[in-house]
Amino acid sequence: PGTLYVVATPIGNLLDMTQRAIAVLSQVDVIACEDTRHSGRLLQHFSISNRTISLHDHNERQRQEQISEWLKAGKSVALISDAGTPLISDPGFHLVRHCRSESLNVVPVPGACAAIAALSVAGLPTDRFTFEGFLPSKQGARMSTLESLKDETRTMVFYDAPRRIVDTVADIVNTLGTDRYVVIAREITKTFETIYGDTASELLRWLQTDANQEKGELVLMIEGKKASSDEIPPLARKTLALLLKEMK
Ligand code: SAM
Repeated sequence: PGTLYVVATPIGNLLDMTQRAIAVLSQVDVIACEDTRHSGRLLQHFSISNRTISLHDHNERQRQEQISEWLKAGKSVALISDAGTPLISDPGFHLVRHCRSESLNVVPVPGACAAIAALSVAGLPTDRFTFEGFLPSKQGARMSTLESLKDETRTMVFYDAPRRIVDTVADIVNTLGTDRYVVIAREITKTFETIYGDTASELLRWLQTDANQEKGELVLMIEGKKASSDEIPPLARKTLALLLKEMK
């Protein structure tokens, strides 16, 4: 059988296209694109003229049958999304699951991913982190999502729409407190790349004074909850209880 290649593409800077991505996309029989028009420009830039088909949230189930038939017939297929790594807040999950359940070859061709690029420069702990995807667009749902992450100790990574960022950071202030450290990585690899971190309340002030920050693409990262220093560790609490008992 053929192989399904899951290929990462740049998130803004075409120089981030890997040599292997170019080689694979030039060799496959079909390229499944989230948006054929959008990817057409990228493929044209690299002089790749292979057949493209669309694979988006609305036709993925239907496409997975067709693609797995092609793979079984020995054809090779590449999956790309509009930018970055497919399946990471992008289509492809159903296709990959389907192909894997049929024991077909699925091969990653790694490259850019906004979440990982953002984490690599944020200066927040990276030994453990959670990727939370997009926050809900409705305020009530967004507040409850943030509320549910109140005690999360790992660094949290979100994708967010620029027009919502002021509201989102205001919601962070109201749910996680004014002092929680938050970093915004905007327009990564592009001309107006900006990485800015501060406490939630200071960040909100900064966003409100610079309207440019409400443009472009961004990744939002929230530092995990710190173990509070005035909390008594379990062993000390036990010793204290014993001492108190003795004193009676
Ligand atoms: N699959 C992509 C990846 O690997 O990063 C993400 C796709 S998701 C639909 C698009 C979101 O990724 C944007 O709304 C933004 O939050 C983030 N993003 C993509 N490119 C970015 C960039 N150059 N700078 C900052 N954030 C970016």
